[in-house]
Amino acid sequence: MKVHNFSAGPGILPADVLKQAAEACINFDNMNLSLLEISHRSKNYEAVMDESRNIIKELFEVGDDYEVLYLGGGASLQFAMVPLNLLSENGTAGYVNTGVWATKAIKEAKMLGNINVLASSEDKKFTYIPKNYEIPAGLDYIHLTSNNTIYGTQIKEFTQTNVPLVCDMSSDIFSRKVNAKDFTLIYAGAQKNMGPAGSTMVMVKKDALGKTGRKLLSMLDYQVHIKGGSMYNTPPVFPIYVTLLTLKWLKANGGIAWIEKINQQKADLLYNEIDRNSLFYGTVNKEDRSYMNVCFLMNKPEMEAEFDKFWKAANISGIRGHRDVGGYRASLYNALPLESVKVLVDVMQDFEKKFA
Ligand SMILES: *Cc1c(COP(=O)(O)O)cnc(C)c1O
Repeated sequence: MKVHNFSAGPGILPADVLKQAAEACINFDNMNLSLLEISHRSKNYEAVMDESRNIIKELFEVGDDYEVLYLGGGASLQFAMVPLNLLSENGTAGYVNTGVWATKAIKEAKMLGNINVLASSEDKKFTYIPKNYEIPAGLDYIHLTSNNTIYGTQIKEFTQTNVPLVCDMSSDIFSRKVNAKDFTLIYAGAQKNMGPAGSTMVMVKKDALGKTGRKLLSMLDYQVHIKGGSMYNTPPVFPIYVTLLTLKWLKANGGIAWIEKINQQKADLLYNEIDRNSLFYGTVNKEDRSYMNVCFLMNKPEMEAEFDKFWKAANISGIRGHRDVGGYRASLYNALPLESVKVLVDVMQDFEKKFA
């Protein structure tokens, strides 16, 4: 039975990737050993690590002025590591507050230095992306969240500035083309759009590091991890491997140009239905709508229980909204096929025919 998995995170992975991952648990690389029981210093695993670093640079089209790390602690640890490594002792960083994750990033950074919240969409429950805000001189960096997983908004055009840009791309990394060279640091927890939970990718421009005047604990210092080739300590070997398989799947199928088109088709199909269907409405500003997380509500919330029966009968999973927004959230991550969105749209149309 095929389940249409719209989970917001951990999210859907390609079926082929799951098969290869399962095989690696039994017999990795024809070693007759499980990936889970070999040294991370083994030649076979070192090759995984090298390939995992390189494929990020390849997909982002950046050169050797950037380093790639895979760290534990989730994207949430990066809320702390970013200011620890980039905010100088008496400096100020700018943050744009577009939701729960950005709020958490701000909270951590405030414990370490001066934070200037340049713009916020909290006044309208994070249903839009603030634009054209002023950028004061002398900021150490600006922190953005490219896609707001909970509210379903997405930055379509990034701020043009000379200030170093840092971006949490956890829920839309490699879903569309971005100009990665415009960013000093990009991070993403793998479990939304590129792998399982347990590893977080950090790509950082080398020359931005070592300038804060702050003494850092080794595990919190990007430079220590860079020097160790992301193996200063034992890395999350299995999540890194499954992330590599997922990125190789993306590359083999046509890369970001290929997936961007499909992601656009999926989002257009669903948003068009939300706008057309008399029983539903979208929750965010149209021009800021996320192509990854589609949030929508029912005009008559008392009909939700009935609608839930409908989509469950169609083997749809994971579309209940986040508790902060309610209603529904369909996550259309890279591995979700267009066919699954068609099934959801059919269900919405059948439901309208029966109940409108
Ligand atoms: C899920 C998410 C996080 C938190 O990730 P963890 O790996 O659970 O720490 C941070 N930022 C964004 C945009 C997310 O979607």
